[in-house]
This record gives sequence, C-alpha cells and structure tokens, in this order.
Amino acid sequence: MRKQGGKRFAAAVLVLTLLLGGFFPAMPVKAAAKKLVAITFDDGPGPYTNRLLDGLKARGAKATFFMLGSRAEAYPEVVKRVYREGHQVANHSYDHPDLTTLSDAGVRSQIQNTNQILNRACGKGTSYLVRSPYGSETSRTRSLIGAPLIYWSVDPVDWKYRNAETVKQNILKNTFDGAIVLVHDIHSTSVDGALAAIDSLKRNGYEFVTVQELFRRRGKTLEKGVDHYSCKPTGKDLGPVKAPVISNEAENGRLKITITAQAGAQIYYSTNGSALNQESKRYTGPFFADAPCTVRAVAAFDMNGSRSEEISAAITRPTAKAPRIQVENGMLTLENFTEGAMLFYTLDGTAATVNSTEYTGPVELSPGTVISACAGGGELLSSRESRAVYSRRGNFFRDIFPGQWYYNDADRAVSSGYLYGMGDGLFAPEQPVTRGQLVTFLYRYSGEQASEEELGALSFEDVTPEEYYGEAVAWAYARGIVSGYSEKVFLPERRVTREEMSVIFAGFLTYRGISAPDSAGAAEKYLDSGRISPWALGAVEKMTVWNLLAGDTNGKFLPGAGSTRGQAASLLMRLADFLEGEGM
Ligand code: ZN
Repeated sequence: MRKQGGKRFAAAVLVLTLLLGGFFPAMPVKAAAKKLVAITFDDGPGPYTNRLLDGLKARGAKATFFMLGSRAEAYPEVVKRVYREGHQVANHSYDHPDLTTLSDAGVRSQIQNTNQILNRACGKGTSYLVRSPYGSETSRTRSLIGAPLIYWSVDPVDWKYRNAETVKQNILKNTFDGAIVLVHDIHSTSVDGALAAIDSLKRNGYEFVTVQELFRRRGKTLEKGVDHYSCKPTGKDLGPVKAPVISNEAENGRLKITITAQAGAQIYYSTNGSALNQESKRYTGPFFADAPCTVRAVAAFDMNGSRSEEISAAITRPTAKAPRIQVENGMLTLENFTEGAMLFYTLDGTAATVNSTEYTGPVELSPGTVISACAGGGELLSSRESRAVYSRRGNFFRDIFPGQWYYNDADRAVSSGYLYGMGDGLFAPEQPVTRGQLVTFLYRYSGEQASEEELGALSFEDVTPEEYYGEAVAWAYARGIVSGYSEKVFLPERRVTREEMSVIFAGFLTYRGISAPDSAGAAEKYLDSGRISPWALGAVEKMTVWNLLAGDTNGKFLPGAGSTRGQAASLLMRLADFLEGEGM
C-alpha cells in the first residue's frame, strides 16, 4: 500500500513539474551541466604572470600555462606558484623554434630540456602536455614529442592587437562550451583582456578548468602524439576533484592517520609541512605519525593540473607523560603523572608499549634487570619511554646501561664506594671530573686515612679540611702523590687533565712500591707526544707501560684533555685490577 501511494505521489509531482515547467520555463528541474572552457597562456612566464595568477585566484579560475624552458629558468618561483595554485604546467619548447626545421635530436632536446626545468617545480615523473611553437608540426615532430599535443579553438590574436578590450571581445565572440583559448601572458594587455573575458564568461555560466580537467571531466582521454583542439560536451561531467578528508585516532597509544579521497584519485601527502608535488609520499593506507604534526594532503588524478584543493590539518592529541621509575630495596615502583593513564613495563630490555605488562603495584626485581616503562592507554598517545637499570651489584641507575663501555666499571666503583652516585639514580657519566674529585676517588680506593698531623700540615689556602676532598688532598700531598700549582694553591675545582691524572695515578703506584720497567721513551708513539708537559712525561710513560692509559683511536694522548666520571671510574677499576694482579 505504501509503495503504491509513493508511486501515485511521484506521478503527481511529475505532472505538476511539467505543468509548472510550461508556465515558468526558467525554473530548473535539475542543475544544468556546467559549461567548461580551458584558457591557456603561452610563451611565459614573464613579468605579468604573477598579476595574472592573482586575477585567476580572485576569480576561482584555473588555467594551463604552455611555458618556454628558457623563461621558466628565468622565473622559477613563478613556475612553482603556477603549480602550487593548481594550474597546469605545460611545455612549449625551450626557446620557441619552429620544430619542423630541427633534427630529431634537436626536437627531443627542446622538449626534454624543458621537461627537466619544469620538473624543478613539479617534481620528477611529471607528465607535460605540449604545444608546438606556431602550431607548426609534422607527423615526425608529433611522434618525436610523444606527449598529447594541444592546439586551440579560439585565437584572439592578442599578440598583434595589444589592446585589452579587443582581446576580450575576440575571446567572447568565439568561445564555446569545451573551447581551448589561446592567449600570451607576456603582454600586459593580454592579461587584462583575458581576465575581463573570464569575468564575462563566468557570468554566462562558464567554469574555467585546466586542459587536463576539461578532458577528464568529460570522460575523454588525451592521446599521445595526437592534436587536441577542443573537448565539446559529451553529456558527462565527472565534476571537480574532491578534497581529501584527514582523520586521526589513537591506536595502541600511537597516532594513526587516515586519509580518504574519491575513487580513482591518488592521495599525495606530507607530515612535516613540506609542499606537495609529484615526488611527495603517496598514501597507501593508514599510517602512524608523531604528534603534534601537520598533515597536508591533496587528491589527484594528475598532480599537474588535475587535483583537489590542498587540505592541511594540524593534529594534536593528548599524550601521556613518561612515568617515573624508582627502585628501592629491589622493589620497582612506577609513578604516574597523567590522569587516566595506565602504566606498562618490561623487564627484558625491550621498550615498553601499551601492549606490555600493566603495572598494578610494586614489583620485585632480580639484580641485573633493565626496566622500561611507559604511560598511555585509551585515547591517550603513549608517553616516551622511561628506562632504568637495577644492576647486578644492586645499584639503581637511570643514566647508564649495560653495553656502555664504562657501565660495568661504574657499577663496580659505586658498589665499592670509590665513586658515589649523584643521587636519584644518576651516575652522570659525562660529567667532568675535578682535581679534588679524582684525588677523593683514589683516597677512598686506598682504604687509608689521613692523620691529624697530615690534615694540620695542609698549606693550600683553597683546600680546607671541611670540604669533602680535604682529607683526601692532605693524604695524597703527604705521600707525594699530588702537588699544588704553588705552595698555597691546589685548585681543587679545576677539571683534571689527562696528564695530571697520569701524575696522580703514577704517584700512587710509586707510593705503593710499584716500579715501571724501562718506561723511557714509551710516550714517543703518541702523535702529540710533544705536547706532554715535561713534569708529566715520566708519569705518562709509566701509565703507558702499565697499560693503564693509552692513546685515542687517532694515536693521540691528548695530555690537556679533561676526564669524565665514566672515564675516571674505568681507570680506577683498571688500577684496582692491576694492583690485584701485582698481588698488592
Ligand atoms: Zn608561442
């Protein structure tokens, strides 16, 4: 019943429409197919092309530019703008010869050189329509060119009249639905006449499209080696290329971006804000990106002249803050800084993700465990990773890890109490070591104690017994292991150099009764041996013979270079192993 009623109603509407149509013929039943026209500009770019582009933009008109390679070289920014604003870039030879007078190689080079120049704006792999200079062709040149050839159906002879009003009238007089109009943007009058004609034709229902779009929208193919003069209505209009749609979501804590476009169109995109051309990334399916980012995308049947408006989306999504790892007495705890976030961790050295074990409370650790943790879940993007290690010796570090060359020595030195951590799980391996610190490390290693008399004998004005290095300096000075810069000056806060370090360590070994066999000349192998201070040379030679210090990979000793905590820990443990080997 309902169906029948529907049919009857539809029939009534049809009758009414026909009746009304008879009385009011202007009342449209359906939107009329658009009248399309392709305006083309030859011989540029030139000094008026930017003004023309401004005019086209203001009118929402697209055009095709048959450029000379020589002019494109002179106006590279204009070529880029033509391309960027969705017009079609096309090839009109390098310098406008009559191609029929050239050899085969001459024709090819006119076309190919120009293609390469245009590629600088449009990207490699772009296809260009060609218009032969003067329209002068033979079957030989057509086949050598090997691209679709574009003639024209409307020629206002603008180059001859040089009068804007005449150019306009000549265009208006001859333009029809599907016409290809020939103008030259190297004449100011042609630019004015063309823009005035566009205004008038738009009022009469014309839409200005590129040559590529004129043919695509009407379901026609542009064939290589064949001349095309116009594209009359076919009863079909596929419509302009629709802009793509960019969407995003959180998937497994990562930012997933999806771009959709109409069937058959290819999507070109960038995520770093870079301009799009033929060489841009092509969308093949949803992808992951780092937030925040700006996604630019365009849908195209051909990036050169058959594409949508460009879409740009600045994407931000809430990102969880990294959790804080804490280990006390072998128990791992994670602290969350993001409301609503869940915490995840691994204990096998791999990076934690939202698919890792969820943290629900303190976890007991075995020594020698690398901990990775992150926050995230739900609509939140995952935090960056937090990483820490609970060492084999039961130390907790946030900034040194197994695999680093000094890791094991640092762990040993901290466990033995020679070096202390910097608090809060920090070892600070790259931090420079001062003279006061180095002597302190050695003092702790020695296991000895400075006596009251030794403390009383300290003559340096910049070393007081209350400082953490006070006892150490007094102990070392009394044993001849260190000396000051003068009787009054020790400079405990100054970064220790490698040659000073040699003197201090060699002094300590000598104090312990170790002698270096035949060390004279041992430093000569260093490329920079001449830079070693005379007062340090003997010590550097001994350290070299003992294999406690060596040159860098370039064969230099670098006597004046400083030392880091990582290096000091490593040297101290080498010293400990060396003395153990000596039975000391
Ligand atoms: Zn020309």
